[in-house]
Amino acid sequence: MTTYLYDFTEGDKDQKDLLGGKGANLAEMTRLGLPVPPGFTITTQACREYLADGVEPAALRVQVTMALRRLEDITGRRVGDVSDPLLVSVRSGAKFSMPGMMETVLNVGLNDYSVQGLAEAANNPRFAWDSYRRLIQMFGKTVLGIEGDMFASALDAAKAAAGVTADVDLGADAMHGLVETFKAMVLEHTGREFPQDPREQLDLAVRAVFESWNTERARLYRRRERIPHDLGTAVNVVAMVFGNLGETSGTGVCFTRDPATGRQGVYGDYLQNAQGEDVVAGIRNTLSLEDFATLDPASYAELRAIMRRLETHYRDLCDIEFTVERGKLWMLQTRVGKRTAAAAFRIAVQLVDEGLITLDEALVRVSGGQLAQLMFPQFDATAPRTAMTRGMAASPGAAVGRVVFDAATAVEWAARGEQVVLLRRETNPDDLEGMIAAAGILTSRGGKTSHAAVVARGMGKTAVCGAESLEVDPVARVARAGGHQVVEGDVLSIDGSTGEVFVGELPVVASPVVRYLEVGLAAALDGADEQTAELVVAVDRLLAHADAARRLRVRANADTAEDAARARHLGAEGIGLCRTEHMFLGERRVLIERVILAESTEARAESLAALLPLQRADFTELLEIMDGLPVTIRLLDPPLHEFLPDRADLLVRVALAEERGEPNEGDLRLLAAVERLHESNPMLGLRGVRLGLVVPGLFALQVRAIAEAAASRIQAGGDPRVEIMVPLVGSVMELHLIRDETDGIIADIAAREGVALSIPIGTMIELPRAALTAGRIAEVAEFFSFGTNDLTQTTWGFSRDDVEAAFFAAYLEKGVFTVSPFETLDADGVGELVRIAVERGRARRPDLHLGVCGEHGGDPESIHFFHEVGLDYVSCSPFRIPVARLEAGRAALSPLG
Ligand code: PEP
Ligand code: MG
Repeated sequence: MTTYLYDFTEGDKDQKDLLGGKGANLAEMTRLGLPVPPGFTITTQACREYLADGVEPAALRVQVTMALRRLEDITGRRVGDVSDPLLVSVRSGAKFSMPGMMETVLNVGLNDYSVQGLAEAANNPRFAWDSYRRLIQMFGKTVLGIEGDMFASALDAAKAAAGVTADVDLGADAMHGLVETFKAMVLEHTGREFPQDPREQLDLAVRAVFESWNTERARLYRRRERIPHDLGTAVNVVAMVFGNLGETSGTGVCFTRDPATGRQGVYGDYLQNAQGEDVVAGIRNTLSLEDFATLDPASYAELRAIMRRLETHYRDLCDIEFTVERGKLWMLQTRVGKRTAAAAFRIAVQLVDEGLITLDEALVRVSGGQLAQLMFPQFDATAPRTAMTRGMAASPGAAVGRVVFDAATAVEWAARGEQVVLLRRETNPDDLEGMIAAAGILTSRGGKTSHAAVVARGMGKTAVCGAESLEVDPVARVARAGGHQVVEGDVLSIDGSTGEVFVGELPVVASPVVRYLEVGLAAALDGADEQTAELVVAVDRLLAHADAARRLRVRANADTAEDAARARHLGAEGIGLCRTEHMFLGERRVLIERVILAESTEARAESLAALLPLQRADFTELLEIMDGLPVTIRLLDPPLHEFLPDRADLLVRVALAEERGEPNEGDLRLLAAVERLHESNPMLGLRGVRLGLVVPGLFALQVRAIAEAAASRIQAGGDPRVEIMVPLVGSVMELHLIRDETDGIIADIAAREGVALSIPIGTMIELPRAALTAGRIAEVAEFFSFGTNDLTQTTWGFSRDDVEAAFFAAYLEKGVFTVSPFETLDADGVGELVRIAVERGRARRPDLHLGVCGEHGGDPESIHFFHEVGLDYVSCSPFRIPVARLEAGRAALSPLG
């Protein structure tokens, strides 16, 4: 019989695939002997089978019965008992944390009888009725699909009737009354009574958690976080402990270090006399852990000891959920905590310095994505500013945008190109789309562990939370603080690194990490504050370690002198792709237009000759900037019509001229050329090597310019390392033909200039046929550079200019892929072609040099693939070079990345 269920005493932290993150870590804490309430985890496999078949696996029912009986024996209580009943919580827990996305039901097992037993056992009727109304409320919303607001309104009405403002001030009778109201709502909305059988409650709650895997918001979150849709969630069933048993009880969340800055200490929020999600939901303002220490010194001391134990055990920042039941501390969850990018770098290096992890481990714990975030701009500290309010620095960055008061408006305004700041009292999972659309998020309530803060940090989105002085009126769409008032559409600037909020637009400046990358460590540290200095030093140490560890070299895709210079500062070890088409645009477009229009060989040669000195000057400049480093220049690639005027514009011009009776000869010839070159699928038409073979003299011009530039650099005492790359080759014969001509030109120029020219000639691998016949192609090519943009396009049969807008959203939604294959290499398909080309190419030519210059060369996940498949270098846009250096180092250390 398949095991669909594991007791907490059976699992451990490495079983996240099966037990989910929460279940695996509860098991781990149980193994460590920490005070975890007894319970069990229903596996992700059970969820997957339920979602596939629409029914629970038959064996699950039996296994749940057995597990419940064990739980009863351990706790000495019985499910549904009229005196001191066993109650359980039912909590979702997927492999990857999806904060607030899926469902939880607490107090399962309460009914009209056991509520009396609970009241007696706890000697607290108010508590028992409060617990029961919470069960009906959560169960009603989650399991029965009743609008949550209806319960909230009934609760508000009860408070108004009792003349109180806080839930805790409602007495036992009021709670009892609410139970009756809620039960009537259940009957009215579902046509049946609230289920009284505890086992039925449990089974329905488990099923609801399974189903919550596929809610709209959960799918959206997974798309955003690139979590596959087919993992399913585990379900944890845990004996209830109660934080709502009066003033000596409560519930809290804490971190072993500050997740925003990495600073060591104790950070967290505590709510007295509260249960479960109250803290995370940001419903009431919380107490700090210092206050908790004063309230309950014994529990606090135990919590501190456990925090230290967990941080030592996991050797990382942990976040923790705990509950105190009448002075007794219980651990409800722990995991390696999410953190900001800056904190990730600082913490990794702090842990190295504390002797808890090695530098190798530290490098694996930060990511290229985090480094990219640290390269975002920040507010200019010297600019004049008008402060409005201040909240918690929940997720760093500088965001400027027009204020909107709800998620739908955020989405709508962002779609029309506005930058928006989403301003809410607090956010909930329904706000997710608006949070994604917004440049920044500002809330007036909730701590660092509120929904807004956790989700924003996860997304790398700027957020300021819990700006308590901010009065938000979402109906009138106005917010006030510090004597200022903003209405919808007004501009705010929010600083997620400091928590400050400013009226109007503040200018942004480069991040200190970019400054460090550009000017070096010593200059970057000059005048930096302590936190910035710690960050910059951490980035420097980890990047240096990555550079030492990596096998992959990192080059830049750069076409201009300016890009090349920037790339070199950022650590580029050469140029992997210089696209020459940009050198034919602007003022020079007319010159190439003349080449295209030339009607005789002489006229074409003349037009080409006019281009020669310009191309030579371009290449000489590049080779000078990259002196001593490889520079791969690609011969012309795009279809020629890209250099001619737009067909529609031209048609109008010609028609208007004719109407005026003044036909323009030049335009007519141009139009004829445009018509002649028009292609239905230009990406699959006359481009790349095909141009070189059918437009006489075109590639020869470029080769001559390259060879002459190299010769002149040698004559000037330089060390040019230029390579010539032929695009879109599909057959070895194409390359042969180009190569013969190219070798001849280079030899002529070397002889004429009296220098030795060693210019490797290679090809891009951009077509499936090129990959499959790589063995043959390697006979002629000295290097391959994988053009994974075209290779993705031609392998999938996707037009790269059309598909992303046309249907990728639907494909992502349907789970055909979790990320665009133009962004992260499709390892199974396109990657397989890369692997084949590497093997066949190297088999024919063992010293074949291999690189990649498609966009994937700067994508963290793809870099791990390129490392694993044995490439020599990746080439990416200059700004992504530090990210590529870091990821190449990580790839060398953790093959599974
Ligand atoms: C490629 O196809 O991956 C490539 C780098 O060339 P381009 O994007 O210029 O077609
Ligand atoms: Mg290409």
